[in-house]
Amino acid sequence: MVCLYCKGKMVHKTAPFSMDRKGYHISWDAVPAWVCTQCGEAYFESAEVARIQKALDMLDRESVALSGVGESSSSN
Ligand SMILES: [Zn+2]
Repeated sequence: MVCLYCKGKMVHKTAPFSMDRKGYHISWDAVPAWVCTQCGEAYFESAEVARIQKALDMLDRESVALSGVGESSSSN
């Protein structure tokens, strides 16, 4: 496997992954990924991407409850 950018050698290790979402920011320190030894470009495998997607879906749901947005308090 070679890097799409520089054709450098890829090694399987971990790379940080971060994402800005509406209302929160998330980052993982070490996600399994292929990292280019030359330019440092990281490629995440589909299994990891799917897992991240799943985690974000869950966080999206829970963060709605945490922020109170969409939760109309009709208690009185
Ligand atoms: Zn590269």
